Amino acid sequence: MENIIIHVDMDAFFASVEIRDNPSLRGKPLIIGSLPKERGVVATCSYEARKYGVHSAMNIKDAYRLCPNGIYMHPNIDKYRAVSAQLHEIWNTYASAAETIALDEAYLDVTEQAHSLEGARKIAYTIKQRTKAELGLTCSVGVAYSKTAAKAASEEKKPDGYFEIPTAEDFVNLMSNRDVKALYTVGKMTAEKLYSSGIHTVRDIRERRDMVIGLLGKQGKWITDLAFGIDERKVTPYKPWDAKSISREVTFQKDVNNYTLLEDVLVLLALCVENRANRYGLHGSGVTLKLTYFDMKSITRSRKTSICSNAVMMYKEAAALLKNVEKRPVRLIGLGIYDLSGEEGRQLSLFDLYTDSKKQENEERKRIFDTLKNRYHLDFEKNSEKILRSEVLHKTVEYMRRHI
Ligand SMILES: [Mg+2]
Repeated sequence: MENIIIHVDMDAFFASVEIRDNPSLRGKPLIIGSLPKERGVVATCSYEARKYGVHSAMNIKDAYRLCPNGIYMHPNIDKYRAVSAQLHEIWNTYASAAETIALDEAYLDVTEQAHSLEGARKIAYTIKQRTKAELGLTCSVGVAYSKTAAKAASEEKKPDGYFEIPTAEDFVNLMSNRDVKALYTVGKMTAEKLYSSGIHTVRDIRERRDMVIGLLGKQGKWITDLAFGIDERKVTPYKPWDAKSISREVTFQKDVNNYTLLEDVLVLLALCVENRANRYGLHGSGVTLKLTYFDMKSITRSRKTSICSNAVMMYKEAAALLKNVEKRPVRLIGLGIYDLSGEEGRQLSLFDLYTDSKKQENEERKRIFDTLKNRYHLDFEKNSEKILRSEVLHKTVEYMRRHI
């Protein structure tokens, strides 16, 4: 094999971690995400919950309708992050290049280490065995000649699965009769377009190549390549600063029409983004504001800035953007920085280097916190570290919504 790629994917990751740490949850339908009375979606659910038809990204109200006896829990993202770091550390030792695509998922280029399909199989089983022995969790592993095929292979025998797709021909044979959605990047909307032209299976895509390209342009070209098993993307070693942006958002339990509150929430979101940016030693050179209105219409507004890695600046930029939007009830608000750059390790921001600016920034920060304190009678400064935790952030925002 010219290229040997492994795709590792944890089985029901968040739910599995919770079950591991609390065995009384085992065998029960466990749904991690929002609680039934809140707004939001399912992040992950156990296989028992899937039997009721519950799945990730499903609206929590729909999940509750299908599975009223399920156990509903908020995610402990910090815990999953810590487990994730341990997982990737194990996996990455077997690869010449490792690409982290999610907390619980990675592509590994094992061409040099494996030499052959047999070698790759050995590595795959070692990864499964160590993941189980050292972290008490199961994963599914796919071995293949390309990234798409490796991902399809890890899907194939979930949970605790292993599958291999050694050649493009094997991939084509496996996929031919499947729905077009089996191909990576074909979502609901693309699928609808294809269906309405009578294209239902992966075989149909191969047989009506020109039609698909005519219908979908550039994406059509990519999809037809995939239908023939062609995917030459390399496993790209992940660097945090390869990420295009860092952002954080919250959904309100009730629509918000008070734009002072929205502006105040931007302070908290900016603190979260600042924290993550600092952890990776990154700064952005633009700030984005995202709003989803009560009718689900979303808008984003952004503006270029000078180097930006501190919350005060992010907040001020985003607040300025908020001034110019259409004032309608808001369901979700988000803040992000983009065009990231940085150097390895902790990097000093320009503000750290120029003490005058740093001092000025600190004073401004204090002023902003004081305003919030007076308005909500909450000591944001003292609690700013706690607020970074997603659970606390949501609770704080809801508290603010009720007390303004
Ligand atoms: Mg997974």
